Amino acid sequence: MKIICVGRNYKEHIYELKNKIPNEILFFLKPETAITQKKLPFFIPDFSNNIQYEIELVIKINKTGKHIQEKFAHNYYHELTVGIDFTARDVQEKLKKNGYPWEKAKSFDGSAAIGTFIKKENIDDLNNINFKLFVNNKKQQDGNTKNMIYTIDNIISYISKYITLKKGDLIFTGTPSGVNKVKINDLLEGYINDNKLISIKIK
Ligand code: MG
Repeated sequence: MKIICVGRNYKEHIYELKNKIPNEILFFLKPETAITQKKLPFFIPDFSNNIQYEIELVIKINKTGKHIQEKFAHNYYHELTVGIDFTARDVQEKLKKNGYPWEKAKSFDGSAAIGTFIKKENIDDLNNINFKLFVNNKKQQDGNTKNMIYTIDNIISYISKYITLKKGDLIFTGTPSGVNKVKINDLLEGYINDNKLISIKIK
């Protein structure tokens, strides 16, 4: 399986990092080894002094698809959750400055924390999903899919032009504003509406 992550999909987050709104969907990959093992903490790696959290809505692909038309994209996923796209921001800044790929900053071991999946039938409106991140019981990120620049269906269709999607693949759909640095002993908890779907300690 593979993990595909969309970058720069919420305006307020683009502005907080002083980036430009992309004129097409921007995505990158994380390997399977990026997944944080269930019930284990996230360990801050020694190559970064600025690991940041990014809460994101994550969808799970349920069948193989290539050149998926937007109007059929909803048939390619049944489950979703929230995940944390852990990012070595200091490493990423250096890579960005040089125009280099982002993998060292985005795809390292443990950089993809994934919550418990829920069925999309349990969500009233996929284009109006509230999701949020609490750090040490304080709300730090508050997102809603209505503020996405590119919808879930836009994303599935676009990615599948380039990369075949397969059952079990995960798509991170971008983070809203409020990203910040993690510290040892922080507790990160992510929600869709009032359902806590992820809880992870920083070590
Ligand atoms: Mg992200």
